[in-house]
This record gives sequence, C-alpha cells and structure tokens, in this order.
Amino acid sequence: MKKIFVTISLCIIAVLPLAAQKKKALYKDKNAPIEARIDNLIGLMTLDEKIMQMNQWTYGKNANPNNIGEKMKEVSPTIGSLLYRSTNPEYRNQIQKKAMAESRLGIPIIFGFDAIHGYRTIFPIPLAQACSWNTDLVKQSCAITAKESWLSGLDWTFSPMLDVARDARWGRVSEGYGEDTYANSAFAVAAVKGYQGTNLSDKYTIAACLKHYIGYSLSEGGRDYRYSDISHQTLWETFMPPFEAGIKAGAATVMSGFNDISGVPASANYYTLTEVLKKKWGHDGFVVSDWGSVRNLVEQSVAKDLKEATQKAFMAGVEMDMVDNTYIDYLPALVAEGKVPMASVDEAVRRILRVKMKLGLFENPYVDVVPEKKRYLLPEYLKAAEELAAESMVLLKNDNKTLPISSKYKSLAIIGPMVKDSIHIMGFWEGMGRPEDVETIYKGLQKEFKNKTTLNYAKGCDFDGDDKSGFAEALKAANKSDAVVIFLGEQRNWSGENGSRSTIALPKIQEDLVAELQKAGKPIILMLSSGRPLELIRLNTMANAIVEIWQPGTAAGSAVAGILSGRWNPSGKLSITFPQTTGQIPIYYNMRESARPKLGHYQDIPRDALYWFGHGLSYTNFDYSPVKLSAKQIKKTDKLIAEVEVTNTGDKDGKETLLWFIKDPFATISRPMKELKHFEKKLIRSGEKVLYRFEIDPVRDLSYVDSVGKKHLESGEFFVIVNDQKVQFELID
Ligand code: BGC
Repeated sequence: MKKIFVTISLCIIAVLPLAAQKKKALYKDKNAPIEARIDNLIGLMTLDEKIMQMNQWTYGKNANPNNIGEKMKEVSPTIGSLLYRSTNPEYRNQIQKKAMAESRLGIPIIFGFDAIHGYRTIFPIPLAQACSWNTDLVKQSCAITAKESWLSGLDWTFSPMLDVARDARWGRVSEGYGEDTYANSAFAVAAVKGYQGTNLSDKYTIAACLKHYIGYSLSEGGRDYRYSDISHQTLWETFMPPFEAGIKAGAATVMSGFNDISGVPASANYYTLTEVLKKKWGHDGFVVSDWGSVRNLVEQSVAKDLKEATQKAFMAGVEMDMVDNTYIDYLPALVAEGKVPMASVDEAVRRILRVKMKLGLFENPYVDVVPEKKRYLLPEYLKAAEELAAESMVLLKNDNKTLPISSKYKSLAIIGPMVKDSIHIMGFWEGMGRPEDVETIYKGLQKEFKNKTTLNYAKGCDFDGDDKSGFAEALKAANKSDAVVIFLGEQRNWSGENGSRSTIALPKIQEDLVAELQKAGKPIILMLSSGRPLELIRLNTMANAIVEIWQPGTAAGSAVAGILSGRWNPSGKLSITFPQTTGQIPIYYNMRESARPKLGHYQDIPRDALYWFGHGLSYTNFDYSPVKLSAKQIKKTDKLIAEVEVTNTGDKDGKETLLWFIKDPFATISRPMKELKHFEKKLIRSGEKVLYRFEIDPVRDLSYVDSVGKKHLESGEFFVIVNDQKVQFELID
C-alpha cells in the first residue's frame, strides 16, 4: 500500500510541472516580465532539456549539401539552436513547428548563420567597409542583411568580427574593421544597430554576435588558430574596447575565439568571459563557442579529454557549444558528480532563454514566407551595395591625374584574371551570394563606357601558376589601346578563415603580366582586388594609378566602373596599413615610439610603410584651414572644441573624411605615437567649404587604461592631430 502511495505520488509530481505550466504558463505570457517568465520556465525544465538548450546543432561540415531538405527532419525538437544552412524559410518554420508543438515545453529554436557581409546581396568585405568611414552605410548594409536573413529563416548572425588586426598574413584580416581600435569600436556599434534595429523582437531584425572574443588576430606569425601571446596592457588597450562598445550597443551574443590567450584559451578563459564580459560589462546575453573550440581545448593542452574540456569551457562562461555535442555528452555526468553546479546550468540556460525572449521567439516563432523576388537583391539593396563598395575603394596613387579615365582615351585595354570573375570578387564569407547575381567588372565597364570607349579585353594570365601563354594577346590589346587597366588580385580563399599566407605579395605571374604590359608604353592603371593589404613594392613603380577595390561583392561591376569613369569620386581611406614588404609586418600607424626613433629600421627597405592607415586620394582637392581650438588649456571636467574648415578647391564634388587623432607625448604608461579618437565624413561640393568638429571629452579621449582596465587621466601636454596639422594644448587639474 505504502509502495502504491509512493508510486502514485511520484507520478503526480512528474506530471505536475507540465499540468501546472499548461494552466499557468507564465513563461508563455508575453505581458509578464521577461525574468519572471524565465524563472517560471527554468523551474519546469529537466536537466536534459536545459542541456539541450546549450547545444547548437548543425549537419556535418560547412557547405555539406545534406544540410538542407530532408535532413532537416532529423532535427530534435528540443535543440537550443541550429546552424541553419538553407535559404528556405518554410523549412525553418517546419522545424520550429516541431520545437513548438512536439517538445514538452515548446521552447523555440534560435537559427544562426554566418551572414558576415551580406546574405544574398553581398556587400564589400568588412575590412573594405571600414575604408568607407561611413558608419551610416555600414549600418544600412547590416540592416539589409538582417532583412534578407530573417526572411530566409534566421534569427542570428555570427557577425560582426571585432578582432583588431595588424598582421596581413592572417587571412581573417579581411573579416574585421582593420588595424585601429577606435575604428573597430565605431563599426561595431554600427553593425550591431544595423542587425538588431531598435527592438530585437521586431520583424527583420536578427541578433548580432561579437567575435572572436578575444585576441584571435594575434595568432602567431599570422598563422590561423595558433597561440596568441597578449599582455594584459594590450588586451585592455587594443582588443577590449571594440567588444565593450558592441556590448554597450546591445549585442545579444558573443563568440569565444579559438586562440590560446597566453596559456588560457579564449574558450576556457574565466577572466575574459565571466569577470570582464559578464561581471564588469554586464552582458546579459550568452556566449557561443566557435566551431569546435570546446573540443579544441584538448588540442590546446589545457584539458585531458572532452569531459574536462566541457567543464573548463562551461565554467569559464561559454553557454552554448557550437557543433560538437560536448555539452550533451558530458554535462549530465559533470552535474551528477558535482563538478558543474546546477545553479551554473540554470544561469547559462537563463541567458539563452533571455535572448530568445528578447527576439520575441516565444510569441512569434515563425518568419514570414515571401517569394524570393521580394526577399533578395531588391533595387535599393543593390544601390546600397554599389554605394558602399564605391565608398570602400581606395585610390592609392594617381600620378598626373591618370584617373578618372579621360574622354581623350578612345580605347582601353581591360586585362587580368579579375575582369570576368564572379566568385572571388565576393570574398570568403559570401553568405548565400551566388556568382550569377554578381555584376562582373567586365559587365560594369561595358555598361559604363558603352558608345564612349572601346574596350579591348584579354585575360593575360590566371591568378597563379606559370602559364604566360596569354601575355601576347594582352600586350596586343595594350598596344592598340590608349590606356591599360589591369585587374589583379586574390582568390577568395586566399584570405578569410584558414587563409594565412607567408607573403602578402601577389603571385609572380601577376606581377610579370604588368611588367609585360609596360612594354606598350601606355598609362597603366592597376585595380587590385584582395582580402588583405598587398605587398606593392614592385607594382607600385610600374603603375601610374592604383585603386584597391577589395572584394566588393554583388555590385562590383557598377562600383568599379563608376570609380574609373569618375561617376564615383573615390573617398575611401585605408583602415589598415600597406607595408612595403611582408617582412615589415607588424607595422601600423599607432605603434609606440622606439628608444632610438631614427635607428633600428630595416636596412633594405624604406622606413615608412608604403601606404599608411588613413591614406586615400580623391579626384578633387581639399584645402584645410588651420585647426582652431576653443582653448589652449582645459580642466579635466571641461570640453575642448577643435574645428577645421575644409574647402573643395577642385572641380568635382567629393566626400572627405577627417580622422582626428590625439597624441599624449608622455604618460605613466607610454602611449602610442597617436591614437584615432574621432572621424567624420562629409560631402563637399566643388567650391564649397564645410566645417568639421571634434569635441574632446578629456575622460573619454585623453585617458588611457592600465593592465586591469582601469582608466587614468593625467594632466599635461597633449596634441590634436588632423591631416598634417598638429596642435598643442594642456590639460590641467
Ligand atoms: C569561424 C567563425 C564562424 C563559425 C561558424 C568558425 O570556423 O571561426 O567565425 O562564425 O565557424 O561558421
């Protein structure tokens, strides 16, 4: 009898939560406060259900064709997240329906994907986007990406990448916003706001994911995935600010990196993941591991097996495991053995549920299904893609105004492996972009120069190899033309993930092609498409004009053609320095001064970089008035206004970006030679004058952080630097 009683009681307890939730279902009440809803839901969940929430499922490896269609049926309805590789919103809705209807508690799945610089409409790579210095356009591109993604079934993108990168051998330099900390911070905010909009639960918005937290770009020697030796000073000064800015802008999630930060890998780093990200910055979303980075802790020699790797990553603050199932496999035992407290499991699940609640997934688990024609590549998207591509392109050199193509040129030789390419021009993370969507450079040129200029095309050579059989035809085209435009560059997988290169020079065959074409004695215009800065020491002297077009994406053709014709006046400025040679790496504008500034340079190359951060020419001329400061001396609580008038003295309208730097010549902890603190881009019509302004806030702009992230503001001498002007002022107590 007693036994029967106990059994009946247990049965009642087992069904109670479900019955209770059906009745009360506070977590389903969209009007109840989010935290109360989460409390209610966590109280109803079993350990297994909690652990499933912490798992991101995918189908095999990247780009596996089985990742779509029928295979979707295998998805468990209790899975927390899915790396979704289909473009079909109906599959998503079907899978989501399973989660909502077939799982005990009906918890929606969050669908994520790498929409890094576009989903179907592909924008320029982020390194290029940063050269536009146009945060509004970048934000707009992210909003378009969010809309295309959401309508394809996504809630979440693994972007933006905020790894400040100064080693161009590292292929992932293409995925971030360049070498400067402030620039990365500014674009972090633009991207987060673009993806997430003003309210994450609105239609067409998706959650952002700041990655790869943190210090990944310091992988030794630019070799991907390797050890990164980072001092705490560098961590705080260089790498933390963009992430902090992204968190403050409201980024819902963060991805922990592959790299080993001075012996404690980023995916097992309690200090960075919990003490800083969660406790100091107050991030209330969740951290997802990078692909397999929990498992990698074994390879990185901090965990003896996968179980220990799970424990380390989880206890450090990684709430969701991408791909590996380690949490599913090992967390139950770790909890049973008391190595992982239940309270930590609850806290992790709480964070994941919070993001799902903020996305509104409980109320609106499904996305709208609209025909592809209304989803992708809308005219306004392509317009934005062209604009961002054109503003990203950097006119590096323009001797004797070789560009724009003058009407006196009746014919142009159009040479090179990039001319008709529609694959590499999209960059490494081409999302769901398709080659057939891309307007090739050739098509863009044909449209632009129709009935004006004859185009004599020859490929010349391939991207790599030693086949020079096309050289003769290319030279013939050059001989019969008035100028030679050569499109060289990198293939898409020469940069991006696992795209490290020991030299950042283009393959010799491409350089040889230019040397061959010089024989025609015509002006040479070099158009370079790459995912990194290139070693141009030899090519630079062979060309009269050079434009870095990066990997511009879907609207490549119109943007490139517009730059050549002058329909677009170049306004890009480098977000990363072009060294003279690969051996000059690392070289970046805000290095610290040397003990012997005039000595110690490489003997075999010039001491300066070839093209510094911030370099970029225009087809018009800008004159700068002397910088005006509102005071020569300010207190720490004051603000200082710096102003410059810029006049467009040329005959073309143009956009000019002013980069405002601060120099602190001596401090308790030495400061870099100068540091970017503000930038502004404005259109100035020919003959007009525009005022640029930088309001210097001492706490924000003149302070520095120490190795534990504490801010210090020291009085003394400072300089504001803009263009080639350097003006002194004093900060007093
Ligand atoms: C990359 C991440 C990416 C993830 C998912 C990883 O290999 O490092 O940047 O978001 O894969 O595709």
